[in-house]
Amino acid sequence: MKTQFSPAQLKDSHMAASEKILRSCVHCGFCTATCPTYLLLGDELDSPRGRIYMIKDMLENNKPATPEVVKHVDRCLSCLSCMTTCPSGVHYMHLVDHARAHIEQTYTRSFSDRFMRQLLALILPYPNRFRLALAGAWLVGRVLALRSWLSPANKAKQLALQHGAAPIAAKVGFLKRTFAMLALAPARLPGRSPYDKPQTVSPKGERKGRVALLNGCAQPVLKPGINEAAIQLMIRAGIEVVLPKGEVCCGALVHHMGREHDALNNARTNVDAWAREIEGKGLDAILITASGCGTTIKDYGFMLRDDPAYAEKAARVSTLALDITEYLTRVGIGTVLPKNGITVAYHSACSMQHGQKITDLPKKLLTQAGFTVKDVPEAHICCGSAGTYNIMQPDIAVQLRDRKVANILKTKPDVIAAGNIGCITQIATACDVPIVHTAELLNWVAGGPRPEGLPSGLQLPH
Ligand code: SF4
Ligand code: SF4
Repeated sequence: MKTQFSPAQLKDSHMAASEKILRSCVHCGFCTATCPTYLLLGDELDSPRGRIYMIKDMLENNKPATPEVVKHVDRCLSCLSCMTTCPSGVHYMHLVDHARAHIEQTYTRSFSDRFMRQLLALILPYPNRFRLALAGAWLVGRVLALRSWLSPANKAKQLALQHGAAPIAAKVGFLKRTFAMLALAPARLPGRSPYDKPQTVSPKGERKGRVALLNGCAQPVLKPGINEAAIQLMIRAGIEVVLPKGEVCCGALVHHMGREHDALNNARTNVDAWAREIEGKGLDAILITASGCGTTIKDYGFMLRDDPAYAEKAARVSTLALDITEYLTRVGIGTVLPKNGITVAYHSACSMQHGQKITDLPKKLLTQAGFTVKDVPEAHICCGSAGTYNIMQPDIAVQLRDRKVANILKTKPDVIAAGNIGCITQIATACDVPIVHTAELLNWVAGGPRPEGLPSGLQLPH
């Protein structure tokens, strides 16, 4: 694509990076075929190519964001399916990240928009605040009898509430977003995990390796069993696990809202926390059990490339960052077992398959562990979770969720496995088949506890 950025504009490294991306687009339109929002809405402006044109016009001409641009960029899930499809290697992720930051700097959103975004940014990345908010949501649900009204069992009402069957609204109101948020709150809040605080967990015998594990923000509150399973897998294999002091949310949530300053601060804090461990007792890897966080941490090197104090350290952190399934495969911890008769539908999160290009490893590990693994039809299409998307864009999110659940059910699974807490939460709101993290299933067959939520009838052979 021909661009006309001025030399002065190109002195800005964000502009220079975006110009390079824009030039690589040959506007062939292949990406439109796999874009979830184009699939649902059929509007070129809701396709990757349409968004690329709008972003180009906005950046090249130094224009403030318009309501039209904001509408279509906000509707983008950042699922990155377009990056997998694109034959020209267009790095859409960096382009849309830049566009979101530009929107944040140049556009004044409605009061309700600003309030909801601020609320999410102030709560979700902080586990204690998030736990408190969930307790409050539970209470509100109880008092107003919303829990039963919102439960998947009463799906017709839920769909009416989230207007899944209704056309996509041009504007999404505060109330609708609040209901979408309440619908995502779990019916029961798990207790705190013993691994909820900074510590080092050492194996009993010989130490064969040392890794840091990202504790994360929302995941340890919603499903503490996931990191517990990851730690148990490591310890059993002789790998020491450190949960470093000073670690915070990876920054993905605010990054996707265009809050670049906040996202970079989170990135710097984490880089410092892990650098202390790298320079101290050393780390073989930084493990992540939520692929949404993994995609962002693997990008820290790019995000902090202009910061002389952090560029090198951040690049090192990004090199060490691995999804738990990558590390299990790398060090050969896969438990090879005979078939156990349990059918698993593997849901590949967008951040896993498109963001990190991890496609076969989790399925191979599950197959080695004795599960019969089924691919989900239309596996490349997002489930609608996408960070805070299911709250901010509930119409589209519900339609994508229901499409995903219908495709999963075609495989007739006993259980669904996924590697991202956002997807697990989203799919669970509309599906009676239990959904757990891949690490929980692997830990179960290796002698760990039964993943929470699995029915007692689902047994491993003795
Ligand atoms: S597939 Fe790639 S090159 Fe073609 S229009 Fe989409 S982003 Fe541009
Ligand atoms: S990131 Fe996903 S929703 Fe956004 S343009 Fe690409 S394919 Fe479409």
